[in-house]
Amino acid sequence: MTPSSVVVAGGSVSGLLAARELASNGIDVTVLEEDEEIGTPEKCGGLVSSRISEFGLVDVAKVVINKVKKAIIYSPSGASLELDVGRHNISVLDRRALDKQICSQASKAGASVIPLERVVKLERHPDFIKVGSRTKTFNCDFLVDARGRTSLAERDSNGVLPAAQYEVEGPWIDDDTVEVYLNQKETPGFFTWVIPMGNGSARIGAAGIGINGFKVVDKFLSTRRSSISKKIASTVVVSGPITPFIKDRVVAVGDAAGQTKPTTAGGIYTGGIGGMIAGQKIAESLIGDNPAILSLYEKDWMARFGSEFVFLKNARRIIRLLTDNQIDNIFMSLKGSGIEEFVSEDGDFDFHSKSILKALGMKGMGRLVSSIAKKEIKTMLSLT
Ligand SMILES: Cc1cc2nc3c(=O)[nH]c(=O)nc-3n(C[C@H](O)[C@H](O)[C@H](O)COP(=O)(O)OP(=O)(O)OC[C@H]3O[C@@H](n4cnc5c(N)ncnc54)[C@H](O)[C@@H]3O)c2cc1C
Repeated sequence: MTPSSVVVAGGSVSGLLAARELASNGIDVTVLEEDEEIGTPEKCGGLVSSRISEFGLVDVAKVVINKVKKAIIYSPSGASLELDVGRHNISVLDRRALDKQICSQASKAGASVIPLERVVKLERHPDFIKVGSRTKTFNCDFLVDARGRTSLAERDSNGVLPAAQYEVEGPWIDDDTVEVYLNQKETPGFFTWVIPMGNGSARIGAAGIGINGFKVVDKFLSTRRSSISKKIASTVVVSGPITPFIKDRVVAVGDAAGQTKPTTAGGIYTGGIGGMIAGQKIAESLIGDNPAILSLYEKDWMARFGSEFVFLKNARRIIRLLTDNQIDNIFMSLKGSGIEEFVSEDGDFDFHSKSILKALGMKGMGRLVSSIAKKEIKTMLSLT
């Protein structure tokens, strides 16, 4: 039996940030990661805003592989909205390098990180929690559940969507441009994406309710000359946050807590901040022997992201209800309405409710969307 105050299950961005904060505050922390190498296999598009500087990375430049200047969103019939996002400071990350850098910070702060050690058993006792992994057993004060989407799927399989992502080289890839393709038949409730990695390569992925992501990406690439170097299958999280984040000494962070945007499934920033706040509050609670401090984790995260996520969850419900024809009509209403200029100037990658609200305010749009999803629109407007 190994003594330890906190065990973190999952050595990816949110778990490692939690571990770094705990160790920096002098807490005995062990990270157990089921894979053999931190950051591997890489299952992420890596698209983030400059807000990841809030993670306190030693060297952000070392993990950025490309910068994005433009985003184009395509309707099912091929109409497009073009957004000039140069001023939004959007980067594409080497996720492996990001995770390794945070791992190094956590280790230097005193955390013990152990790969190839899957957490398989959990026993809740009144004063401690017993965590069993492949070869070890820990009695600890808290378990940080940073196991990602597999943990979330155990609670709510509807909150995750099947996905696939390829790494591809091709002459048609524009290094400056992220592309999003909406199509309810091929990717119901989600989309196909192209995230440029620079030098004519890109991460091409697709997610949607009940889809086979490989089939969708294969079809997408069938008309584009491409050379594929990597394929992964995964799921993306669209449920919105679980409640509560903390139950019986188990503290959920990142994807395990549903801290990804319900519209885009982006969770590096919001989940990473979740890990940081959780680590800080667990440490303060242990040091001050004051369990009440723990509740500040959920309170602080919700204060930053809660209303945005409720808004986006409703936006997602509306998107789910739209037919391909209705999406085409919305694009026709929005084209030339000034929304492209608004998003280019005032949009925010991490908080896009402002852009959605603006779009709803464009001529004819409110009526068009209200006729399809009256209840959801009412809820969204009541949040603003
Ligand atoms: C295809 C795809 C594209 C994406 N693109 C973007 C994007 O462009 N931008 C963005 O912001 N987000 C994106 N995301 C989401 C982003 O990857 C996640 O939100 C983020 O990685 C969540 O980090 P996490 O630490 O919470 O969980 P994860 O990164 O999922 O890590 C969970 C870790 O726990 C480990 N683990 C699981 N079970 C156990 C166990 N029992 N014991 C020990 N270890 C375990 C896993 O091996 C893994 O290392 C994408 C996701 C996918 C799938």
